[in-house]
Amino acid sequence: METTSRREVAHAPRRMRTIAITGSASGIGAAVRQRFERSGSRVIGIDLHEAEVMADLSVPAGRDRALAEVAELGGSRLDGLVVCAGLGPQTRPTELITGVNFFGALGVLDGMLPLLAEGEVPAAVAVSSNAASLTPVHEDLLRLLLEGQEAKASECAASVDGSTVYGTSKLALTRAVRRRAGEWGRAGVRLNAVAPGPVDTPLLAGGLDDPVLGPLIEALPVPMGRRATATEVAAAIGFLLDPANGYVHGSVLFVDGGSDALLRPDIF
Ligand code: NAD
Repeated sequence: METTSRREVAHAPRRMRTIAITGSASGIGAAVRQRFERSGSRVIGIDLHEAEVMADLSVPAGRDRALAEVAELGGSRLDGLVVCAGLGPQTRPTELITGVNFFGALGVLDGMLPLLAEGEVPAAVAVSSNAASLTPVHEDLLRLLLEGQEAKASECAASVDGSTVYGTSKLALTRAVRRRAGEWGRAGVRLNAVAPGPVDTPLLAGGLDDPVLGPLIEALPVPMGRRATATEVAAAIGFLLDPANGYVHGSVLFVDGGSDALLRPDIF
């Protein structure tokens, strides 16, 4: 039988790791970028601006472009992926939220699985939100998202309020992550999600400025009594990507100061 120490050696990366991060130009994505660059990894940022790969993930052509350019820059392999690019509930038109937060995130995840499968102790993290469990769900939109019907989902989202579209998109993303545990596990690639609560970033500032959303965000009870910093969320993402945590797969890690536990204590 293999000893623990031999197994740890087998899982220790032997070369500089390459990590792709969507939404790397701002907020949580920028904090993740900084964390990995400081620890000596090579980062391929994907964003609308200020990134190695500039692509609009709200549309299929932008996702294809991101996949092609990351494959080229990464030499057809990746060791880590963080899908972080996202828009807040204040975004108009609301169908942009489903385009980036669900189809953009999932398109990048699925499209980059073959690159990750070639990586060393590879893993990916999707940035969801505790809005997935704490905000109202639009069941028709949820079904269309999970069926991958982008045109119909956009049409549906256009007539739904931003907060519900945001929460439903994040719920669909979280389910999509969990539904992939089998396929990704067989491919040797770990896949997990983080579910942050309010994090001090430009996205949250935009929500707080909104006359309807602002008071709702402020009303969310947070046991820790404060918002998160982007650096704290990046630390949780770093944990999930760390090769040392090789058995964490299919998990949703709440980084929300305890709000989900406070409001839904008995889900287990
Ligand atoms: P942010 O606005 O600071 O950063 C988001 C980044 O995504 C930006 O750099 C932006 O340019 C990029 N982006 C937006 N649309 C894009 C597109 N079409 N194509 C490519 N890139 C695009 O926001 P943030 O708060 O750091 O959010 C990051 C993620 O965290 C989002 O998915 C968000 O839903 C999630 N989240 C944020 C909070 C919060 O309170 N800030 C809470 C829970 C979850």
